[in-house]
Amino acid sequence: MNEIAALAKGSFDGASWLITARTGGVSKDQFAQTNFSLNVGEDSKLVQVNRSRLAAQIGKPITFAKAIHSKNLAWVDEKSSDEIAEVDGLITSSKNRAIATLSADCATVLIFALGVKIIATLHAGWKGMSDGILPKTIYELRAVGAREIKALIGPTICAECYAVSEDRYREVKTKVPAACFINKQNEFAIDVRAGLAWQLLNEKVSFDNVLICPFEDENAYSFRRDHKTGRMASVIWLNN
Ligand SMILES: [Zn+2]
Repeated sequence: MNEIAALAKGSFDGASWLITARTGGVSKDQFAQTNFSLNVGEDSKLVQVNRSRLAAQIGKPITFAKAIHSKNLAWVDEKSSDEIAEVDGLITSSKNRAIATLSADCATVLIFALGVKIIATLHAGWKGMSDGILPKTIYELRAVGAREIKALIGPTICAECYAVSEDRYREVKTKVPAACFINKQNEFAIDVRAGLAWQLLNEKVSFDNVLICPFEDENAYSFRRDHKTGRMASVIWLNN
């Protein structure tokens, strides 16, 4: 059996994470090969093969978030289903279930709270970032006793590849000025990664980055580049 390839993978001290690349699955045509979304028009049976293959590799069942560009969060436990609708962030303290968010250009953020041993995965595009899904999650983790928190910002479309309308730019600028740029082509642009980094610095959360722009990397899915395309999974799990 083929392995689902990793665009990036690593670990915190007590949790592991993986962000999938485009090879090692069974998706076809414009979705090839490792689409994890049931909502982009691909045969769901093929998506389920990819999901099962990834779960087998990790050694745990996975709960996926079906995101809607909100700041809705859901707590997952070992009895949770394999997909939760209308949430952009999942949180768990269970060692028996991995959690995953999907993206193609939008950022994902993987979070590990040491001590309390709680993990989270978030999907954040310009909307989720500027609405504050990340600080909301940090607040929620601190409310249940998290002290030291570490984060990783996954592959995110860069400002050079993410020109937006002036209206969009002004809207984001009122909330997260650090995410707003005039890019090298002199266009209004959003750098979601810069906005998330600013929020993490604000919250005094240490973080690392996967410095990949999906639009520029053929191993990644990019909605802006390819339109009808698949979604990568950003999955995190607590070590046994
Ligand atoms: Zn780029």
